[in-house]
Amino acid sequence: MARYTGPVCKLCRREGSKLFLKGERCFTAKCAFERRNYAPGQHGQNRRFKISNYGIQLREKQKIRRAYGLLERQFHTTYEKASRERGITGENMLIRLESRLDNIVYRLGMSPSLRAARQLVSHAHFEVNGRIVNIPSYRLKPGDVVRVRDRSPMRLNSDSIVHTAMRRIREGRAAPYLTLDKAKMEGIFIQTPKREEIPVIGREQLVVELYSR
Ligand code: SF4
Repeated sequence: MARYTGPVCKLCRREGSKLFLKGERCFTAKCAFERRNYAPGQHGQNRRFKISNYGIQLREKQKIRRAYGLLERQFHTTYEKASRERGITGENMLIRLESRLDNIVYRLGMSPSLRAARQLVSHAHFEVNGRIVNIPSYRLKPGDVVRVRDRSPMRLNSDSIVHTAMRRIREGRAAPYLTLDKAKMEGIFIQTPKREEIPVIGREQLVVELYSR
């Protein structure tokens, strides 16, 4: 599946908020958003025009889409599937995004960033319930066990990025809907996340309004 391969710090600066796309660097003084907190480009510092309602909705949509590292078509497909489910469309969409395998690997702390998680999954370093899954968009169900594959170099090499990332996190609840066993290098998706358990990135209701136009 296609993915964005351009500079990511620019995306944070464009959206006017930290999207934490670069792992450790995001928590240091090197963060581009901390150093240059204005829109990218030659005229980034001079933009003072009033933003329309459409503009606000568009920015919220872009912010959420970019935080989960999706291109427009993938994101819109997720929205459409969510809109066909029962309940609140915006929340359904966020829950779907949050339940993706690449996102869970990241939330478990097994990778330094979401982008790295996506690459690790697509290079088949993880298995779900004992079976190799190399599809980053794979949607987890409650009870699914995500584990670093036994024969993966990410498990065998103690200097791998998975080991390095895991050394920085604590055992136990990685998120309210996840448990992590560091020794086994595995995590359990214990329940579908509730809206209030998902870190707030943007206002999902505005995405629904945008796509309903
Ligand atoms: Fe965004 Fe992280 Fe880059 Fe800072 S370092 S601008 S938070 S991606």
